[in-house]
Amino acid sequence: PESDMSDLAIAARATLQPISRIAAAAGICEEAVEPYGKYKAKIDPALLDSSAPMGKVVLVSGMSPTPAGEGKSTMVVGLGDALAAAGTKTMIALREPSVGPSFGMKGGATGGGQSQVLPMDEINLHFTGDFHAITSANNLLMALIDNHLQQGNALGIDPRRITFKRVMDMNDRSLRNIVIGLGGPADGMPRDAGFEITAASEVMAVFCLATGLADLRARLGRMTLGYTYAKEPVTVDDLGAAGAMTLLLKDALKPNLVQSIGGTPALIHGGPFANIAHGCNSAIATNTARTLADVVVTEAGFGTDLGAEKFMDIKARYAECPPATVVVVATIRALKMHGGLPKDQLDQQNTEAVNAGLANLARHVGIVRKFGVEPVIGVNRFTADTEAELQVVTQWAAANGIACAVADVWGQGGAGAQELARVVLRAIEAPNNFAPLYALELPVEQKILMLVQEIYGGAGVDYSPRAKLMLEQIHANGWEDLPVCIAKTQYSFSDDPQLLGSAEGFTLQIREIIPKTGAGFIVAITGALTTMPGLPKLPAAMHMDVDEQGNAVGLS
Ligand code: ADP
Repeated sequence: PESDMSDLAIAARATLQPISRIAAAAGICEEAVEPYGKYKAKIDPALLDSSAPMGKVVLVSGMSPTPAGEGKSTMVVGLGDALAAAGTKTMIALREPSVGPSFGMKGGATGGGQSQVLPMDEINLHFTGDFHAITSANNLLMALIDNHLQQGNALGIDPRRITFKRVMDMNDRSLRNIVIGLGGPADGMPRDAGFEITAASEVMAVFCLATGLADLRARLGRMTLGYTYAKEPVTVDDLGAAGAMTLLLKDALKPNLVQSIGGTPALIHGGPFANIAHGCNSAIATNTARTLADVVVTEAGFGTDLGAEKFMDIKARYAECPPATVVVVATIRALKMHGGLPKDQLDQQNTEAVNAGLANLARHVGIVRKFGVEPVIGVNRFTADTEAELQVVTQWAAANGIACAVADVWGQGGAGAQELARVVLRAIEAPNNFAPLYALELPVEQKILMLVQEIYGGAGVDYSPRAKLMLEQIHANGWEDLPVCIAKTQYSFSDDPQLLGSAEGFTLQIREIIPKTGAGFIVAITGALTTMPGLPKLPAAMHMDVDEQGNAVGLS
């Protein structure tokens, strides 16, 4: 019967402990806990013992996914529960869900089945207001920029070269490109403008990479908001906006404590996209969790080629949080898809297709090893999987010396991940030679080429004329030393979502290069990328409601 229940129904049935009890059990002193209602609290890292030894990081990533997602968040929660149940002092660290996509197609991001963080509906909706704070800080900057133009434009900002946009946490395609300032001289300076979704904003990326309030302010100040008529970059510090923006973010910067169904403490904080940004929860949450626990289980968006690579080359570098192991989540359905089976046949047993799909998984194992870290394959078990199919994976892993365990975290919670927990504990004890892929001093083109050849398995890179121009500007402005964040499809190692399996030898087409001087990385965009998603024909919102008791209905 459990397998017929929705995530929301399972979450609604769970009994929650008061957040003060969860905090006390996690060793958080009372004065550091700022309750938001009964089951959520902000934690002030400044009031915790900063001399505590730092726990180890278990990073959960995955093979190239199917459009349904392979269950990384679900695995994070189930593995966290299993480690805690085995007596390891454990904390979970996850991204905050973005509201916009929840009403479109994607569904929430709080895990699934028996492996969820709670209260599911509150975390998926407004939670503790961090996204609103980030939205406000971004839009304060925009109001100040447009007011600067209105009041005489002392900085000489070229209104056609303002790179920042207003943001909101909603999928609303009709706001992508707009004209603002219409009406007359008292109503602002007319210009071409637009909206992005909050999760795609540089303010979000800055928020997630900042190591404290001072670093947050410094990063906000370094953001390039546009260029002058003389094509010189203009920063937020030039405009004098960093202080007020920091003020709007000071409380949001404290990580949010919640609990899993299994009662494991979880910090859920920050939610940047995994394409235009680095796709992990805040550095502050990860490192706060490390001062409190011996093992922190956290996640990076998409497969190892995207999220794990960015975790290791960007987040771990800035926040000094190297992973002790990387769990590569694999599913039988994704293996079958990469093995060539059409999407409508993925729930039929087919061991040959599973076997053929291992080529994709093997590449992800190789990517983790490139960073000097030994991976663990975590097979996320679905009810349609057969023993014969699961054995194809476990026997292949054993024959190739790769640690591997099957886990039923969705059906059983932590109890379904006991073996995976044992394998992970063994992996994090092994010596680790973690190092980022590239040195920051290399030219940007060289860094991109290394990513394409050594991580994606491609042959080379082609730049659009526009991208070439931006590379010259990056050179001229002295931004060469920043790490690179490639925005690419998650479905393929290449930039073509149709090239499944183990794509090789392709040329990556880079259309655009965007410096994010505050976040501290250079975004290289392949293919089409929207920073403001739209809604599908039948949005998930159409199934949502509130029942007579005021409970959420239809959140998934
Ligand atoms: P990801 O983090 O990789 O995007 P999620 O953990 O958010 O994936 O899971 C995506 C969806 O798949 C969720 O709705 C979750 O409930 C569901 N799911 C995950 N694992 C399983 C499983 N083993 N069986 C059935 N559904 C699952």
